[in-house]
Amino acid sequence: MNLPFAESYKIKVVENLRKSTRREREQWIKEARYNLFNLKSEQVFIDLLTDSGTGAMSDQQWSAMMMGDESYAGASSYYKLKNAISDLLGFPYFLPTHQGRAAENVLFSVLVGDGDMVPGNSHFDTTKGHIEFRKARAVDCTISEAFDTQVDHPFKGNIDIEKLEEVFREHPASRIPFVVVTLTCNSSGGQPVSMRNLKDVHALARKYGVRVLFDSARFAENAYFIKMREEGYGDKTIREIVAEMFQYADMMTMSSKKDAIVNIGGFIGLKEEELFNKASTYNIMFEGFITYGGMSGRDMNALAQGLYEGTTFDYLDTRIRQVAYLGSRLEEFGIPVQKPFGGHAIFVDANKFLPNLPREQFRAQTLAVELYLEAGVRAVEIGTLLADRDPETRENRYPELELLRLTIPRRVYTNNHMELVAAALKNVYNRRDSITRGLKIVNEAPIMRHFTVELEKVESV
Ligand SMILES: *Cc1c(COP(=O)(O)O)cnc(C)c1O
Repeated sequence: MNLPFAESYKIKVVENLRKSTRREREQWIKEARYNLFNLKSEQVFIDLLTDSGTGAMSDQQWSAMMMGDESYAGASSYYKLKNAISDLLGFPYFLPTHQGRAAENVLFSVLVGDGDMVPGNSHFDTTKGHIEFRKARAVDCTISEAFDTQVDHPFKGNIDIEKLEEVFREHPASRIPFVVVTLTCNSSGGQPVSMRNLKDVHALARKYGVRVLFDSARFAENAYFIKMREEGYGDKTIREIVAEMFQYADMMTMSSKKDAIVNIGGFIGLKEEELFNKASTYNIMFEGFITYGGMSGRDMNALAQGLYEGTTFDYLDTRIRQVAYLGSRLEEFGIPVQKPFGGHAIFVDANKFLPNLPREQFRAQTLAVELYLEAGVRAVEIGTLLADRDPETRENRYPELELLRLTIPRRVYTNNHMELVAAALKNVYNRRDSITRGLKIVNEAPIMRHFTVELEKVESV
């Protein structure tokens, strides 16, 4: 008999969850104005809102925290983190920041200016925000296969080399501060970039004299997919693959809340001393002195340890198999999900789930509310609410894909929890024809409305 797969860790500390009744949830979601961001965490049984900062630290990380050095300057925790970053990722210079977007703020303050072009693969929203805030433009050069949910492609995060070269040809290098490669790419749900593509992007950027930046939040999950899917990498260790990946980058920004398995933190990795000196000034202004940059010593210690744990095969195998486990269960139930499954989340196609609900009634948000009512599971809408209104016409923008994201925190839930999520969604799927009333907006902010939007149920006519 083949042995079944089992998690590569056991549980030492537990956090109790509170179950609730459907009647309680009906009350709570109404009070939350049908916006799941407004729920209190104790009103949630299984929280799949995000994988950012929600992971469970190991005993080794917790014990490293006790050894944190809280000296303002020159703390041993800083050197521990510096060594981990140079050892694993190959960057001789680094700056700690309080999270990923802070790393973007510091680095882009040096590099990005009015009228610049920043090509990349479906820039993350904070990355795009920090580019556009500086009156520069983010140009999406992701391969077209990424936008077709039916196409099975092993590396849907790849950059289209021809599209990239077009940007390079049409603009002088002085107007292109860098090309940003997002690992893994969020566009269609944690899709990886191949080593071949990293190599090609780097070679092309060199030819045109442009720097390469890796937006690296999920770099280790990307390395796992390279090992599993790309020819020639099956026998290499995750750390060998990671080291090779970062050879093709001049700089990196990191949200440590993802693959470094800590609850807060970030950093910038650099290979040029001059750039480091310039960025240091902004780091001191925005984040803190260069040997702590908005992080406590204990947090830097936990992060250094998290980088080592996050780059082991067994940990990544457990994580990514759990995501795929949920995806496969949903698929078995006939529920429309995006393929191939990505590294950190499963995406349910709300357009296919609730095709009869008018799009103006927010299909994915309606589905999120129904899933919460069914079992206290909190997922997140990646659809019309998130897409905001057109800045000129003020009309709703209807994105091609209307998705419900089930984001899996690292090392937090068991496969029994995944089983429950799948069954709850199956129950909603079975009664989907009875879901005839969606939601309408009562109150919304002019941008980033999804965080604070207030909704109510559409009355029956
Ligand atoms: C999360 C994330 C960021 C922003 O990091 P924060 O820590 O949330 O500020 C940037 N880029 C990518 C790819 C991310 O996943």
